Amino acid sequence: MSDYARVEIGVLGGGPAGSCVAQRLAELGHEVWLIEQSLFPRPHIGESLTPAILPLLDQLELREIMEEAGFLRPHQAIIHWGGELRIKTYEGEPGLQVDRGRFDQLLLESAREAGVEILQPVRVTSAMRLDAGGWQLNLNRAGRTELLQCEYLIDASGQSVVANKRKRLGVATLALYGYWKNSGMTGPESRVEAAENLWFWSAPLPDNLINACVFVDPKTCSGIGRDHLEGFYRQQLQGSSLLAPCLSGTLVDNPMPPVNHSPTGPITACNASASYSESPVSEDLIRVGDACVTLDPISSQGVQSAISMALQAAVVVHTQLSLSERGELAAEFYRQRQQETITRHQRWASRFYAEQAAVTASEFWQARAAGHEADGASDLTISPETTPLPRNTQLMLHPAASFTALPILKGDLVTSAKALSHPSLERPIAFVEHIELVPLIELLTTGDTLEDIVEKWSHRVPAQSSLRILHWLWQRRLIQRSSGY
Ligand SMILES: Cc1cc2nc3c(=O)[nH]c(=O)nc-3n(C[C@H](O)[C@H](O)[C@H](O)COP(=O)(O)OP(=O)(O)OC[C@H]3O[C@@H](n4cnc5c(N)ncnc54)[C@H](O)[C@@H]3O)c2cc1C
Repeated sequence: MSDYARVEIGVLGGGPAGSCVAQRLAELGHEVWLIEQSLFPRPHIGESLTPAILPLLDQLELREIMEEAGFLRPHQAIIHWGGELRIKTYEGEPGLQVDRGRFDQLLLESAREAGVEILQPVRVTSAMRLDAGGWQLNLNRAGRTELLQCEYLIDASGQSVVANKRKRLGVATLALYGYWKNSGMTGPESRVEAAENLWFWSAPLPDNLINACVFVDPKTCSGIGRDHLEGFYRQQLQGSSLLAPCLSGTLVDNPMPPVNHSPTGPITACNASASYSESPVSEDLIRVGDACVTLDPISSQGVQSAISMALQAAVVVHTQLSLSERGELAAEFYRQRQQETITRHQRWASRFYAEQAAVTASEFWQARAAGHEADGASDLTISPETTPLPRNTQLMLHPAASFTALPILKGDLVTSAKALSHPSLERPIAFVEHIELVPLIELLTTGDTLEDIVEKWSHRVPAQSSLRILHWLWQRRLIQRSSGY
């Protein structure tokens, strides 16, 4: 056993979440060590990235590197769902179909360049909280045990090494996937298809490779041994109109398709159920990426969500380490973001599943669509105001509106800001168009006209922004005609 080092921050795992949180913290001046068990590039599922990943890559200054890496750029996805075949075209820029080995390696390299110390291939075998504060990590480097102590621990290990009580979201799902070369399926787009009791997804990759995946209820496969997994998987693929070409295959140089075309390696089975950690953050530990919230793969948003959480977590940890009096405020900010991710994701997934449940009565789809209707009802707390914002009428703040303190991000720190609460709002709102709302609302007096308000706000915001904010408030009935005037 070798002597241990003590460092400020230890990051467990070098996937998208680990690399991005490590990079940002190093850029904010912290000492960061990252421990990754695999040598990169290593294979990893999760290759379809929607265009929403691009602004995150911009924030990390990594867009150019990713755009030059030769990944495929789909403008659309082919979707056979809810009884109809449709093409979903992305608005604006195309998404990315990445080789995750290469993508994750580029993220890790960027973290190294930012000053992160990387231990690789080194496995963390256990993490223990020390009585005197901080953590002790047991590491395995080529069979040898080493110790590392850190003041703050970031768990970005995906499946989680640090004790983590988790709750499942929705029903359990198992993914079976294999890679196919020269499958005969052309085009850079993902294909998604629903069947009676399962669904299919494929992602084309560079070098004429395709990842073809089948999502099933785990009970369907219970009792099937490793030797029969490929047979079961092939049998399911035969039922897919979009992915079945994998099974016959078309060699580029050979006009005759080979009989019994085979995947390039064994079929992998992995858990694809959505879940979340019940303890995402404390004063010396934060969980990021899948270790915090594992999304249902139907959304193709796992990587984007992991990076987005990493950027938020970096600010939370930076605040906790540099301003201890704001430690709990920062932790609360992170808990609220985790809750939002869960709610938004569950709402989206159950709606999407409900489209298929409407045309297939099987238990598989009904269970996945559960909660959809209840969710829809809670959306309609108040109907939006449809009449135009009146010019010469006297206005007032709605009596049910109130102010509440909210943790928010300001620059590289978490701070507290006043936010506006109202039954028509899903959550308190601190900013509209990046402008702090409550300081403006505090200037309102009952009986002000539109012109009065724009004039009052003019030393803080341009008139055009004022009008847009007022319109936003009016639509949500947060301002109304003042009775009695
Ligand atoms: C079937 C399936 C399909 C999916 N498809 C998509 C998709 O199309 N698009 C999408 O965006 N997402 C998809 N996802 C989700 C996506 O793969 C994950 O959300 C994403 O990889 C999470 O990133 P992460 O950094 O949190 O974890 P990971 O990417 O899993 O990284 C964790 C890292 O930690 C390392 N590690 C683990 N334990 C240890 C240890 N003890 N010591 C040291 N290192 C350790 C691992 O080697 C790994 O490199 C899919 C998931 C599944 C299951």
